[in-house]
Amino acid sequence: MNLLITAGPTREPIDAVRFISNRSSGRMGLAIAQAGVDAGCKVTMLLGPGVDDATLPKAVRVERFETTDDLLQLLNVHFPKADVLIMAAAVADYRPLQTTDEKIPRAETNLTLTMEPTPDVVATVAKQKRTAQRVVGFALESNKTLAGRARAKLARKGLDAIVANPLETMDSDAVDAMWIDASGQSESPGKMAKEKFGAWLVHKVSSDWDL
Ligand code: C5P
Repeated sequence: MNLLITAGPTREPIDAVRFISNRSSGRMGLAIAQAGVDAGCKVTMLLGPGVDDATLPKAVRVERFETTDDLLQLLNVHFPKADVLIMAAAVADYRPLQTTDEKIPRAETNLTLTMEPTPDVVATVAKQKRTAQRVVGFALESNKTLAGRARAKLARKGLDAIVANPLETMDSDAVDAMWIDASGQSESPGKMAKEKFGAWLVHKVSSDWDL
């Protein structure tokens, strides 16, 4: 199985030295990549800035992205060769409408940033899916709204399954996730280390989908 995994945050520039990003550590994606290798998959990782790939086996092909646009371009190259895309990257939902190659100087007045929505990368890629390809997204929400919003994202983005995580997952060692697939089936393996969940997820994907 050819597994394509995205992980880590995006960075959206404000000016030559500043950016908007998030607290994603990339650990979940790294754990899935390791589990994929252990299960005999061919693994390609698209990794965001600040994520240390030192723990990954040499067998994993790693490509780096910074912005949402970089990630979309890399996916356009690598998704056609994948059987399964696991989209664990914490992609920015908004980016500054205007950026500059200069450094914005400090002034004693308020600075207003106007943001525009980024393209929904996974939804764009899922539209190009062949019959034998599968796309798994992630949803990070507070516990109260988690299941409902995850199901809505699954449908809106055209995914085959989604991993729903509570907010506490970000930047943590453990995960308490729920798997929901397009047929409405769900499964919660319980709270566990991200490494263990990576193995659970790779096993779930390869046993549910005969690819
Ligand atoms: O809408 P939300 O950001 O919660 O969606 C989460 C899922 O969508 C994740 O799999 C994430 O990688 C993906 N996503 C994306 N492009 C965006 C925003 C999120 O592919 N602009």
